[in-house]
Amino acid sequence: MLHTPVAPRSRLPNVGTTIFTVIGQLAAQHRAINLSQGAPNFPCSEALLRYAHEAMQAGHNQYAPMTGLPALREAIAAKAQALYGCRYDADEEVTVMASASEALFCAVNALVHAGDEVIVFEPAFDSYVPMIELQGATPVIIRLAAPDFAIPWDEVAARINPRTRMIVLNTPHNPTGTTLSAADAARLQALTTGTDIVVLSDEVYEHVVFDGEAHQSMSRFPALAARSVVVASFGKTYHVTGWRVGYCLAPQALMDEIRKVHQFAMFAADTPMQYALARIMAEPEHYLGLSAFYQRKRDLLTRSLADSPLRLLPSRGSFFLLAGFGHFSEESDSDFVQRLITRHGVATIPVSAFYSDGTDHRVIRLSFAKDDDTLLAGAERLCRLGDA
Ligand code: GLN
Repeated sequence: MLHTPVAPRSRLPNVGTTIFTVIGQLAAQHRAINLSQGAPNFPCSEALLRYAHEAMQAGHNQYAPMTGLPALREAIAAKAQALYGCRYDADEEVTVMASASEALFCAVNALVHAGDEVIVFEPAFDSYVPMIELQGATPVIIRLAAPDFAIPWDEVAARINPRTRMIVLNTPHNPTGTTLSAADAARLQALTTGTDIVVLSDEVYEHVVFDGEAHQSMSRFPALAARSVVVASFGKTYHVTGWRVGYCLAPQALMDEIRKVHQFAMFAADTPMQYALARIMAEPEHYLGLSAFYQRKRDLLTRSLADSPLRLLPSRGSFFLLAGFGHFSEESDSDFVQRLITRHGVATIPVSAFYSDGTDHRVIRLSFAKDDDTLLAGAERLCRLGDA
């Protein structure tokens, strides 16, 4: 640069590069076995690829409708009714988004004003707090305590006030692998009745719930569905995280506002992918079998780590397993993760990245959204951690 560049006034002065990118790069650099990102390293179904290919060849390569392909919106509405008993209007209350991340962002952007308060439970996915701060709103952080990471509803009750605009939920939960129960929904319903609080419910792991439990979507509870934006992901469900297609469900009054933002942020999600996803949604076995598919992987990783010094926490859903190391090391979780990558060749995520103040409980997150060989090889290296 010949000239001195202008100094930007950062809107996110305390934010660096997201941990998933940082660790991904470090893992690649050290050729580590990658148990970090919640992204499958195995292929999606051949049929889905063929459907996308056929859509491209059929000429579906221009903008899709702003709100999403009608056939896909109808398939989504039919699924929400079949699984959760909630009737969403496919034209007005379902929007296909360019990823669940976009849906979350548009919902916060459209519905949260400067000066509002938004309740967030930590540990939390790393985008929630920055999204709120970009609005000039205040994140109100409530801690979830190990090992069950249950929502402390009495504390929620104490923190709700007339400035509370939104409560952000995530079930199954990233990174802890916990799930919300019907009793949690009942508490939430009681606390929000008579308020205009919006519930933003990140349900991208809706089809990854273990041990016979049912996913407690906010769509299941009519009084909550009426104030909820439910966010879902095709990437997580069909092993295509790189396609960047997700969707959200919300009552029309909320959705009208969300669409005002989406139309100027992305306008529309990828067209051929939407054709492909609409076709594969007609085959519900793909998502209905996903819990069993990932439960087997959770169990394989858990079993393979039995001889490691790590202390595993239970995972009831999602792609993730938490593991504590504080009983044998004084390192920070970031240092520990760095050492695992550089000396032991296994990449994981430090859970301090899920706290906006960097709280460190000496816990790491392992992703089991990996093929079995990768899980076994990663576990074998982690089992050797205790060796001198
Ligand atoms: N949701 C995934 C995870 O938690 C990926 C997130 C991302 O890379 N933005 O690992």
